[in-house]
Amino acid sequence: MSPVDAVMNSDLISKAGWLDVDKHTLQHKKYKNIFGIGDICGIPMGKTGGSARHHGPVITQNIIDVLENKTPSSSFDGYTVCPIKTQYGKIIMAEFNYEGPAPTLPLAFEKPRWIWWAFDLYMLKPMYQYLMLPGRF
Ligand SMILES: Cc1cc2nc3c(=O)[nH]c(=O)nc-3n(C[C@H](O)[C@H](O)[C@H](O)COP(=O)(O)OP(=O)(O)OC[C@H]3O[C@@H](n4cnc5c(N)ncnc54)[C@H](O)[C@@H]3O)c2cc1C
Repeated sequence: MSPVDAVMNSDLISKAGWLDVDKHTLQHKKYKNIFGIGDICGIPMGKTGGSARHHGPVITQNIIDVLENKTPSSSFDGYTVCPIKTQYGKIIMAEFNYEGPAPTLPLAFEKPRWIWWAFDLYMLKPMYQYLMLPGRF
């Protein structure tokens, strides 16, 4: 994996080869009018669609702040999610952030569940298409 060539061949990247942004504000460390979203961000957690979904509102607020000559006020908490298939019909929905486990629902984090299998199979696509892409979620 790597960023697109236009970014790779620029001074926007960190030594590790990713967009050099602050892990909380997602603002570029050198160029304050540049923000990162999604896999391209060189931050400790991420490289999931779940992370990108959480990046969106953070950079939206922070871009508005910069346009208004204010300090970025929104902070990404490191949220990411790994749906781990433990067997046919069961998934561990491992959600965590910079601090540790961060389950969206109050369910035991480490337990494989059929409900997460059903969610992964039937809900993710409509959630992506009808909630995330139109900016509702
Ligand atoms: C097998 C697999 C399973 C996954 N499962 C999950 C999961 O269950 N849950 C989850 O949250 N995440 C999952 N992910 C991760 C998730 O897919 C990524 O984190 C997410 O797609 C990143 O979004 P992005 O927009 O940052 O990058 P991308 O989705 O990679 O989008 C980048 C886009 O840029 C385009 N592009 C590239 N070069 C150029 C160019 N020069 N000009 C214009 N466009 C260009 C590409 O074609 C691509 O469409 C999975 C990933 C993989 C590979």
